[in-house]
Amino acid sequence: MQKFILGLLSLSLCAAAIAAPAPRPNIIFMVGDGMGVAYTGAYRLYQDNIATPELEKTVFDEMLVGMASTYPDDHGVVTDSAAAATALASGVKTFNGAIGVNSQHSPIPSMLDKARELGYLTGIAVTCQVNHATPAAFIAHADSRHSYDSIADQYLDLRINGKPKVDLILGGGREYFIRKDRNLVKEFEALGYHYQDDLKNLAKIKKLPALGLFSKAGMDPALESSNPLRLAEMTETALRLLQPEMQKNTTAKPFFLMLEASQIDWCGHANDIACAMSEMRDMAATMKIIKAFVDKNPNTIFVATADHSTGGLSIGAKGQYQWNASVVRNVKATAPTIARKLLASKNNWKTEWQTLTQIKLADDEQKALDAFITQADESNGEVIVSQVTAQVLAYIDKYSSTGWTTKGHTGEDVQIFSYGNDHGSFNGAMDNTDIAKKLMVYLKP
Ligand SMILES: [Zn+2]
Repeated sequence: MQKFILGLLSLSLCAAAIAAPAPRPNIIFMVGDGMGVAYTGAYRLYQDNIATPELEKTVFDEMLVGMASTYPDDHGVVTDSAAAATALASGVKTFNGAIGVNSQHSPIPSMLDKARELGYLTGIAVTCQVNHATPAAFIAHADSRHSYDSIADQYLDLRINGKPKVDLILGGGREYFIRKDRNLVKEFEALGYHYQDDLKNLAKIKKLPALGLFSKAGMDPALESSNPLRLAEMTETALRLLQPEMQKNTTAKPFFLMLEASQIDWCGHANDIACAMSEMRDMAATMKIIKAFVDKNPNTIFVATADHSTGGLSIGAKGQYQWNASVVRNVKATAPTIARKLLASKNNWKTEWQTLTQIKLADDEQKALDAFITQADESNGEVIVSQVTAQVLAYIDKYSSTGWTTKGHTGEDVQIFSYGNDHGSFNGAMDNTDIAKKLMVYLKP
């Protein structure tokens, strides 16, 4: 009899467990734009603690689960950020330049759209202008990624359940939102959005919905920013605002948050290794914040990947079997800034060079740079800056043994990172569209 009662009890407990569905998971999806395998490998060397004999693992090492192919759907092999972002946002391959439209130019829904339709809170935080290709593919639809004004308009004009799609927008891009023909910031404020235009005021954002546009276009590069960990800081703010516990007086809603370390790609296009590594540091810091959040909020799916690699970065170049991270660590500014400062200091350029790079040049290299700087024709300003920039980069690459093969993108597979209970779902080799398809399975009514 006792056994029978126990049996009934466990049956009813079981039924109760089935009847109460698990709360819907939060989803955090992050893109390291242009972050090919060489970038995470170089970053491991860059962040190494030289006081210890071992090479410390990175947060990328801890979360690595798979690889993804990235080719676009236009008979090419190498994708741009728009086609790759559309694939990652919606699970549909498209042509280079396309934002949220398929090969037939028809609009396709993103995972952010789907999350929104299911009542999730939504947010984006990026270091480029917020209407740049990667975030745009989650929110807007355009045949050309360069339709910046139209894409910004759609952030306000496209509605789901009567409201703009995104509750929290953080990044750069004021010039696209405050224009002569339209002031989208005013229009967002009229809809109840809190607005901030200074990164220092992140803490002043106390509730959703909110819009933060912290620079005219892209934010300052990490290497030259007053806050080099700006994506990490925006992510902390986003998690604070989106976290269900913070949604007082409402039933807890799950959230979808899209993050992008946007400028790894820009440094890659510029073939600027010090610039790229400082952006990687911000990406790594952001992933550590997410890791701590997932540890406290295990009902959260975190996936990160890259849209493609950029620059054909190699660790070691020109027959050198080495890579000198310390050379990269000592560079204090991006190459164009170093070039401008050298040109401005004229005959004193050697002191400036030491301060900004600590690289000891050979005599013939000093002479070559000296000729560029002291004989510069100032009427030809930007040409001279770009010539000196190229020279600066050549020396940083030579002394660090960094290689580049292109100023554009490359088509090799990219890594997939995941953390939390379901990280196994993203194991192995797949296409970039599979990442989106797998993530969308977690979006539930
Ligand atoms: Zn790019």
